Amino acid sequence: MEIRLCPNCWSSEIRSSHFRFVDLAWLVMLKLPLRCEECQQRFHASLFFVAKKNRELKLAKLQESAKQPEAGGSEIEEQNG
Ligand SMILES: [Zn+2]
Repeated sequence: MEIRLCPNCWSSEIRSSHFRFVDLAWLVMLKLPLRCEECQQRFHASLFFVAKKNRELKLAKLQESAKQPEAGGSEIEEQNG
């Protein structure tokens, strides 16, 4: 299992960064821009790692929303799809 850390401070608090024109050069090497939440360092990592990270974040959000406590009298809507 590959774990990508910030090359500057070794934090694992990493999120995807806004895409800039200069990132095109990295994209041809299948790398996407990332930013460290700790030190704001901008760097690039494998496309496959970013896709995996995004999927983990999405899963974590889904699990969080599924765990929301029931509030009395609130409307609950079922969403399909
Ligand atoms: Zn950092």
